[in-house]
Amino acid sequence: MCASTLHAATTPPFLALRQVTQQYPLPGTRFWHATRYQCVINNVTLSLNKGEHVGLVGASGAGKSTLLKILLGLETPDSGSVSCQGRAVVPASTAALRWYRQLVQYVPQDPASTLAPNKTVAQSIAEPLHFLGHGAASMSVLQRALDDVALPASLLHRRVATLSGGQAQRVAIARALALRPAFLIADEPVSGLDLPLREQITALFTQLAQQYDMGMLLVSHDISAVAALCQRVLVMHEGQIVEDRPRSALLSTPAHPHTRALLAAIPTLPDCYC
Ligand code: ADP
Ligand code: MG
Repeated sequence: MCASTLHAATTPPFLALRQVTQQYPLPGTRFWHATRYQCVINNVTLSLNKGEHVGLVGASGAGKSTLLKILLGLETPDSGSVSCQGRAVVPASTAALRWYRQLVQYVPQDPASTLAPNKTVAQSIAEPLHFLGHGAASMSVLQRALDDVALPASLLHRRVATLSGGQAQRVAIARALALRPAFLIADEPVSGLDLPLREQITALFTQLAQQYDMGMLLVSHDISAVAALCQRVLVMHEGQIVEDRPRSALLSTPAHPHTRALLAAIPTLPDCYC
């Protein structure tokens, strides 16, 4: 076996999920013996490589956010495992995952509502740095974090509650990037933004991924929101990954009916405007 083949065979993927399953009680059935369950993640096995840009798409309710929470070690699945560079993330205690938080950062769905409104922008960015043992963030670190996301340093002393939606979105990204993670996971990072802002944030992700040689998993219900950024696209449907292919192959010859439905849902201008 040649050296490179041996390396590929022995190096674990950057992130790996193995046979992950998660059930939740169905709404309205949570009564002692009558509780019924829905299988939200159904035996998912998945590997993500270092530096890779991957899109995860699927309709609302497909299980995307649940899969992310499990991948991040924020939620413990009923069965299966998660590892990062061969080291266990799940099962493991959340308190023991500081090493993982340093490597893999998360921009949650609707970041504007997950930042504490009464904190300043500086406090919001400094908090994870402090928590992960980087000490008090210097002014130059905080300014660079805002500079990364094209926001002026004058915002550092503003309260989060006074920011626009787009500014809060950028602050959430700056907060995650300040740790210089190897991998960024973002849940619906451009959903709910108007078109110009959506294009700005998409361009920002492209630039930051190149600048910091960072892997990314971008999640969206809208295939067009991730297609521009990701060379590999995963399609999730009813708790399963039903397609996992290079972007060009997936867009030109979608194999699963659900992928075709997602592609058909991309809005196009009516002929009369073309
Ligand atoms: P997506 O992000 O693809 O829209 P989610 O992972 O948020 O999907 O949700 C998948 C399904 O799991 C939905 O039917 C949702 O209602 C259900 N669900 C998500 N979280 C919980 C929870 N904590 N308890 C019960 N059901 C949940
Ligand atoms: Mg979601």
